[in-house]
Amino acid sequence: ERLSNDFQFVEVGRIDPKKVPAKKRKKEFGEIYHPFTADNAASQAHRCLACGNPYCEWKCPVHNYIPNWLKLVSEGNIMKAVELCHQTNSLPEVCGRVCPQDRLCEGACTLNDGFGAVTIGSVEKYITDTAFALGWKPDMSRVKWTDKKVAVIGAGPAGLGCADILVRNGVKPVVFDRYPEIGGLLTFGIPEFKLEKSVMSRRREVFQEMGVEFRLATEVGKDVQLKDIIDEFDAVFMGMGTYTYMKGGFPGENLPGVYDALPFLVSNVNRRLGFEKDPADFIDMKGKRVVVLGGGDTAMDCNRTSIRQQAESVTCAYRRDEANMPGSRREVANAKEEGVKFLFNRQPIAIIGEDRVEGVKVVQTQLGEPDENGRRRPEVVPGSEEVIPADAVLVAFGFRPSPADWFDEQKIDTDDSGRVAAPEQAEFAFQTSNPKIFAGGDMVRGSDLVVTAIWEGRQAAEGILDYLDV
Ligand code: FAD
Ligand code: SF4
Repeated sequence: ERLSNDFQFVEVGRIDPKKVPAKKRKKEFGEIYHPFTADNAASQAHRCLACGNPYCEWKCPVHNYIPNWLKLVSEGNIMKAVELCHQTNSLPEVCGRVCPQDRLCEGACTLNDGFGAVTIGSVEKYITDTAFALGWKPDMSRVKWTDKKVAVIGAGPAGLGCADILVRNGVKPVVFDRYPEIGGLLTFGIPEFKLEKSVMSRRREVFQEMGVEFRLATEVGKDVQLKDIIDEFDAVFMGMGTYTYMKGGFPGENLPGVYDALPFLVSNVNRRLGFEKDPADFIDMKGKRVVVLGGGDTAMDCNRTSIRQQAESVTCAYRRDEANMPGSRREVANAKEEGVKFLFNRQPIAIIGEDRVEGVKVVQTQLGEPDENGRRRPEVVPGSEEVIPADAVLVAFGFRPSPADWFDEQKIDTDDSGRVAAPEQAEFAFQTSNPKIFAGGDMVRGSDLVVTAIWEGRQAAEGILDYLDV
C-alpha cells in the first residue's frame, strides 16, 4: 500500500535529534542526543516513501519492518509500532542508539539520493522509549508454558536475543553472566554517552517480568561448572563474546602507560556505576597526552572517554584514510567535535620510553593496490617516521575469540581462528558440534555488531525450539 505523501520528503528535510553542545558534553558522560519530540518523530517518519521493496529492511540485519512502523509513528500509533518493533528485534531502543545506521538501514534508504535518509534509528529509539514511558510491557498472556528450561551463558545482545525468543515460546531461560549487570559490552564496553546504563537496567526488569531468570556475577567454569549446567538444563546457548585483545606486535607495547582499550573502558564504567572493587583499577587520563591507536568503534569510545576524563590532549592515529575507517561516521564526527585530533595514514611501529611511555613512533602510509577483497592495503612512505608525544597510549586494535578451556571436554569445535563452529544452516540453526549446545554472536562470527549478535541469538533460539520440539 502506498502512502499519500509522495513529495513530503521534499518539503520536510532530514532532521537529526538535537545534540548537547560539544563544549558541555565534553565534561559529562550522559547521552549526547536529545530524544525526538512527538512532532519531530511523526514528521520525520512521514518522509518515508514506503518503497515497494524496501532496501532498508533488507539491509537491517534483523530485517525490521521499517516502513510499516514508520507509518504507524507518522499516525501517532506508538503502541502498535512498539509491538511491531519487537516482532523482529529484542532490543530496539539499543539498536536505535548504537547501530551504525549510515552503513545499514539508513545507508540503504532511497532518499539518500540527495534528500537525506529517513532518520530510522532515532525513530526506532523514540518508539521504544516512548512506549516504555507510557507503561507498555510485552504481552505474555497468550504464552503456553512448557516444562523445558535452557541455560544461556552470557547476558550480552546474543544471549538476550536468545532468551527473548525462548521465553516468548514458553521455554524458561536462565541467563548466567560473570558481570553484575546484564548487557555484556552494552554495559561493560560501550560508554554512557552512546547508551545510558539505565536503558539496560530497565530492560533487565522487563525481561525478568517476562519470566527470564538472571544469575549475575556468576562465571561459568569458575562459580558453576558447564557439566552441571548440561545435566540440569534441556539445552545450552553460549553467547560469550570475544575477549582476546589484538596486539600491534611492535616494541614497547608492555611499557607502563600502555593500556588495552577494554580494561580502560570497563574501569570507567565500574567507577561510574559503583562496581569498582579497588580504586587502583581505575585508569585515569586526567591531564595526560593520550594517543589512541585504531579506527573502529572501540577507538572512538576510548577517544571520547579520555576527553571526558579531562585528558590534556587526545590524538587518534589510524593506518588507513578517513574513508576507510571501520567505525561509524557519526561517532567519528562526534569525536572531532569534542576535540579529538585525528592523524590518518599513520602506522605505529614502536612505543618509545625509558621506564614508561613517552611517545608513539609512526610512519606515514599510502594506499596501495587493492587486495583479494578489493580493499587497498596501506604501504609505508619511505623516510616518514615521526614521534607523537604521549603520557598514555590506548591500543584499540580489536578482539579475537577467546575459547574457554572446557570446550574440548564438551566436544565443542572451533575453527582455526578460535571461533565456535555453529552454522546457521545446520539441521538446528546455530547448533555446535555438541548437539545440546548452541552458540551465536561475536564468539561465532568474530567481533561484529550489537544487531548481528541479536539476530544470531534469536535464530539460535529458533534452532533450540526445533531441537526441543516445542
Ligand atoms: P558480548 O556483548 O561480549 O557479551 C558476552 C557476555 O558473556 C559478557 O557479558 C560476558 O561477561 C559473558 N561471559 C563470557 N564468558 C562467560 C562465562 N564463562 N561465564 C559467564 N559469563 C560469561 N557494536 C555496535 O553495533 N555499535 C557500537 O557502537 C559498538 N560499539 C562498541 C564499542 C566497544 C568498546 C566494543 C568493545 C564493541 C562495540 N560494538 C558495537 C560491538 C558490540 O558491542 C558487540 O559486537 C556485541 O556486544 C557482541 O554481543 P555478544 O552477545 O556476542 O557478546
Ligand atoms: Fe537500522 Fe539497526 Fe534498527 Fe535495523 S536494528 S532498523 S539496522 S537501527
